[in-house]
Amino acid sequence: MLKFYNSLTRRKEEFTPYGDTVKMYSCGPTVYSYPHIGNMRAYLFMDNIRRTLKYNGYKMDGVMNITDVGHLTSDADEGEDKMMVASEREHKTPWEIAKFYTDVFMKDVKALNIDLPEHIVPATSVIGDIIDFVKGLQEKGYAYETSKGIYFDISKFGGYGQLGSDINAKKAGARIEVDGEKLHPADFALWIKAPKEHIMQWDSPWGMGYPGWHIECSTIGKKYLGDHIDIHTGGVDHKTIHHENEIAQSDCLEGHKVVRFWMHLEFLQIDGGKMSKSLHNVFTLSDLEANGFCPEDFRYFYFMAHYSKQQNFTYDSLMSARNSLKNFKNAIWEHKNGTSSLTKEKEESYRQDFLNAINDDLNMPVALAVCQKLLKEDKSKDVYNLICKFNEVLGLDLEEKEERIPDEIKKLAERRWQAKQNKNYAQADSLRAELSSKGYTINDHKEGYDIVKN
Ligand code: AMP
Ligand code: ZN
Repeated sequence: MLKFYNSLTRRKEEFTPYGDTVKMYSCGPTVYSYPHIGNMRAYLFMDNIRRTLKYNGYKMDGVMNITDVGHLTSDADEGEDKMMVASEREHKTPWEIAKFYTDVFMKDVKALNIDLPEHIVPATSVIGDIIDFVKGLQEKGYAYETSKGIYFDISKFGGYGQLGSDINAKKAGARIEVDGEKLHPADFALWIKAPKEHIMQWDSPWGMGYPGWHIECSTIGKKYLGDHIDIHTGGVDHKTIHHENEIAQSDCLEGHKVVRFWMHLEFLQIDGGKMSKSLHNVFTLSDLEANGFCPEDFRYFYFMAHYSKQQNFTYDSLMSARNSLKNFKNAIWEHKNGTSSLTKEKEESYRQDFLNAINDDLNMPVALAVCQKLLKEDKSKDVYNLICKFNEVLGLDLEEKEERIPDEIKKLAERRWQAKQNKNYAQADSLRAELSSKGYTINDHKEGYDIVKN
């Protein structure tokens, strides 16, 4: 039985989709700066769900938005417009900013071998649909107009707070004084009337303006998946405002519950704390690569913790993921030409254990432990084949180049590394030359070296 933890019901529930195909929506990136490895944890989570569902035989219809329209820095419609800030910082148009960072994002997710959703939709491509959505809410009496824009009236939606946010916590205070037209402090903007100088704006029934930041997800979900969505994913930071607001918009427009499973990923911490620019601890995938790690090391690192727990990133823990991955692959390759065989019963039991682990709300640490146990069996092609099957979920590159590097070359490279460590540079250089004559280049980095076939 496949079970996921549902943030709506606050328990693990059996998952079955509405139809044959699983419809899944994932909140995507805001493309105004480099995505960091915390963001990447969110997309590895999406990948983990998609691959697990496919492994269970489901077809996928997935959607992810790209927030390429400026929205305000806080969830609560306050602060600066992020795209505008980036435009000014980089002397580019918002369109250029969005294109540049969307490309960076796509490069990173591809490097991590993330199984991408069938539709990746920029918010700016659905402005007309957003306007229709807002009009629909207005016609049904869920929205009202102020001099600033069109607001959602949360008092009209009895279901507000399903994900646990307490609307009374937002006491009438400073915000109300600033914007006396809002009926409730938690009412949020669906459409914002743009001052002339605002860089991204579109014509609408309410004059020139731009969408509020929650509406794009409800609109894109409706347009691409319809009014019954099986799963919606995102990081925990989005749970109590962004996702409450999405529920309010979508359920009120459709007149019924739209999303059945809300799944939230806990944050990646750095050195035990929050990632923050001021602490200089916001790492990108490129930073990890510059330190000699492969994207796949980070992919393996993701599997080492459960998604519902905070995961602490340090370079030491990434190094340990890297070593485990190396050992994991070596062990797999040793089975490739193994002559022993796995009994049908054993094979079935490993299959079942692996399935039980992934189907128990994506318990990847247990799934890895099942693989480790399997790899301890006598060397057998059956083990190799079974691991390749499990790899449909893990998504690792089992045909990596290192496999084809002969032992002799590995030994030479190791001798060179030792010579270098012992400051015996002449010997290290001559071994490097020998390796080069055999067609291999050695790339050193902080923690070790890579052997590259020329
Ligand atoms: P954003 O581009 O800020 O909307 O974030 C994109 C995705 O990354 C969202 O699903 C966020 O919840 C998620 N996210 C942001 N920071 C972290 C973090 N430190 N750890 C895990 N996920 C994060
Ligand atoms: Zn969203």
